[in-house]
Amino acid sequence: MAKKEETAEPRTLPSPRLLPWHSEAIAQLKHAWTANRLPHAILVQGAEGLGTGSFAAWLSAAVLCDKSVDGVLDVCGACASCALIKAGSHPDLHWVAPEEDKTQLSVDQVRAACEKLSKTSFRQGYKVAIIEPAHQMTPGAANSVLKTLEEPSKGSLLVLLTSRPSGLLPTVRSRCQKLSIAGPSTAEAMAWLQKEAGKAIAPALLEFAGGAPLKALEYADGRFDELNQHMQKSLRDLFAGDTDVTQVAAEWGNDALIDRLIWLDLWLCSLARTGIAGTDDRVTFPGGPAHLPSPSRPLNISALYSMVDRTRTLKMQLARTALQRELAVESWLIALLEALAPNKAPVARAS
Ligand SMILES: [Zn+2]
Repeated sequence: MAKKEETAEPRTLPSPRLLPWHSEAIAQLKHAWTANRLPHAILVQGAEGLGTGSFAAWLSAAVLCDKSVDGVLDVCGACASCALIKAGSHPDLHWVAPEEDKTQLSVDQVRAACEKLSKTSFRQGYKVAIIEPAHQMTPGAANSVLKTLEEPSKGSLLVLLTSRPSGLLPTVRSRCQKLSIAGPSTAEAMAWLQKEAGKAIAPALLEFAGGAPLKALEYADGRFDELNQHMQKSLRDLFAGDTDVTQVAAEWGNDALIDRLIWLDLWLCSLARTGIAGTDDRVTFPGGPAHLPSPSRPLNISALYSMVDRTRTLKMQLARTALQRELAVESWLIALLEALAPNKAPVARAS
């Protein structure tokens, strides 16, 4: 493998692209630009799947665009600056993202970008640094950012992107102007999704994506249907005793576990709603046509909600620590059987 430079830029940067739900944030920026009051540091906060990356790409392209200088903040797409952006070689744009196989942003990467902000610009315009995801900065990297925030240089713009603002130092947060990207309403998201996908979309897909249209679109190519069917089969077989927790844990633990946990969360909530409503034994996935496996009756509603909690905790742990996935899934599955189908649980554990 070729040796990478310490400050290697990521391979593919998001292209500038505005989505309908970005319009309010864009209006605020355009207004600040025209009033000559663009802040030197902006914290863009928005959930994953809302296109904050392409939003930041638009913002940097617009700030650097030659046509914006004495006019409206926009991306003309035709000037020399826009051409450099398209080629991925604009000398005054520094995009810091985790290097391959890494999740954190190192102090060297961030310091290099901050240093470039303090120097003279190559094209006599703005200098822009984008840090993404800002909550993944190491403490040393965050301190570099803090220094830049305390002593901003003229004509520089630092953009921090995050889906988890609480993961940033309060001192960093308080020195940035916050710009929130809110998601669209369900109706707006569904309309956008159908248009982009060019076909009918099940509302369950948007629910699975946590309301984030870009994530839903990513799964609309059949991945969601496949997941849906596989999860139903696993659970049906497990409740019927045709498979065991070890086998299911091996399957789930090694493939798309986070997606499976999101699906399970929705399934458990759907089961609980069915149980509370006292309706029949056919459990329907929210908004979807699939009939999901229903464990033994009557449903233990409080046990179901404990399983929802357990599912969310496991998902959080997976994001933060290196768990032994199969073992973690196996104990989750045993808890599920104990809660919903005690006669199928593998062993009665001593208390
Ligand atoms: Zn331009």
